[in-house]
Amino acid sequence: MSKTDYYEVLGVGRDATEKDLKRAYRKVAAKYHPDRNPDDPKAEEKFKEASEAYEILSDSQKRGAYDQYGHAAFEQGGQGGGGFGGGGAGFGDIFGDVFGDIFGGGRRQRGPQPGRDLQYNLELTLEEAVHGVKKTIKIPTDVDCDTCDGSGSKDGSKPETCGTCNGHGQVRMQQGMFAVQQACPSCHGRGSVIKDPCYSCRGTGQKEVEKSLSVTIPAGVDTGARVRLSGEGEASPNGGPTGDLYVMVHVREHKIFERDGKNLYCNVPVSIVDAALGGEIEVPTLDGKVKLKIPSETQSGKMFRLRGKGVVDLRGGSAGDLMCRMQVETPVKLNKEQVEILEAFRDSLEGDKNSPRKKSWFDDVKSFFAGE
Ligand SMILES: [Zn+2]
Ligand SMILES: [Zn+2]
Repeated sequence: MSKTDYYEVLGVGRDATEKDLKRAYRKVAAKYHPDRNPDDPKAEEKFKEASEAYEILSDSQKRGAYDQYGHAAFEQGGQGGGGFGGGGAGFGDIFGDVFGDIFGGGRRQRGPQPGRDLQYNLELTLEEAVHGVKKTIKIPTDVDCDTCDGSGSKDGSKPETCGTCNGHGQVRMQQGMFAVQQACPSCHGRGSVIKDPCYSCRGTGQKEVEKSLSVTIPAGVDTGARVRLSGEGEASPNGGPTGDLYVMVHVREHKIFERDGKNLYCNVPVSIVDAALGGEIEVPTLDGKVKLKIPSETQSGKMFRLRGKGVVDLRGGSAGDLMCRMQVETPVKLNKEQVEILEAFRDSLEGDKNSPRKKSWFDDVKSFFAGE
């Protein structure tokens, strides 16, 4: 029987990208998957064909060979099927890669499985993030049950070898056309079964406790930073390395300061008089209040930079700046005398001369309506 062209099998052009191939393969394979077409040899044939086509075309070296020599490139050495039958390794990889989210994964584990990494979300105030802080966090962790010393059996009786898997912890299950290695359903992968389980841990041999860990947060961190506590993650279920704990930093919003990288911003209200005549105003910094001299004719929105009053650089560079944004305030709750003063002041104003933005603003409005 002559073989169908691999590109045709997947329904893609010869210029298909890796992404196109993956998408096409998922579509074809999902349609003809043996789980969805039980006892349909035709579907199984199509499924095999698509898997083979994808295995070749998704490997740039094999794809190159196929483009040049066609099917002949893979017909030597009695491996007519393209390398699936034997170890199944190639297939395992494709399976995990492409079907991870359709069929819930299935990549086979080799060697002892490392413990899972854990994540802990740590909220910090801006001050803590800027100055650095030492925090104690509590995380749940499994330890050996002290009643049974971790054996899971009552009265220290020894667990027995599981009869279903003969102590291997894994069984081979036939699923459609392929065999899958699975954790033994009788012993859940432990390889042994407990006949007389311990009361305190119900035979698991473990119990959950809270452990306290000390985390040092360096000065200058921002939301999204993570601190790794090596070996503080989950224990491996079968003697592999322990996972790590990642402490993820979230910096809370601050009432006064806004942060942008190393710089801080804050709005500072300034009276109309100080803004007009100039003066000395008080501004907050993370280390306390400081005096800031502002010049006469300071407009609303004007920013003054306080060098080095921002955030410490995490990598040892220079600290950021604090930017103070002036907000000229309209006075309120004026008494009679103040109103009189302001009215006299109003009468004294000489139009555009005292109002620098007004003229250019009206000019802009005029040209806008004139369609210029
Ligand atoms: Zn078993
Ligand atoms: Zn126990």
